[in-house]
Amino acid sequence: MPYYPYRCLDCKRRFEVFMSYAEYGQRPVTCIHCGSAHVQRRISRVRIARSEESRLDDLSDLDNLEGLEEDPRALGRMMRKMSQEFGEDMGPELNEVIDRLEAGQSPEEIEAALPELAGEESGVGGDDFGGEDL
Ligand SMILES: [Zn+2]
Repeated sequence: MPYYPYRCLDCKRRFEVFMSYAEYGQRPVTCIHCGSAHVQRRISRVRIARSEESRLDDLSDLDNLEGLEEDPRALGRMMRKMSQEFGEDMGPELNEVIDRLEAGQSPEEIEAALPELAGEESGVGGDDFGGEDL
């Protein structure tokens, strides 16, 4: 069951309400701290919040990632679906990750095969280039 983040306008505290999509909008929400009905829904996913609330509902299962790590294909499908839903350019590296996930590789194997994904600590170039030619 998804949860919805709220903020109480009276006591200013934040809380979350668990309810189904059928209940959402039907059930009155009150502050769990002070009981006030003067609450406001918080938008937690700012980047994708635009006007896609209804589409986000379809992706509700993204909140439930348990088990996906044992199922690379499902993870790959989910990532592909996300990139298609949001129409964002996720880059060739991520597309390769998705391809490998869908081929059944584990995240660990993929990290080993694509070390540049593991971290960006090496930055650009490094000391090998010298840089003090003159
Ligand atoms: Zn309150």
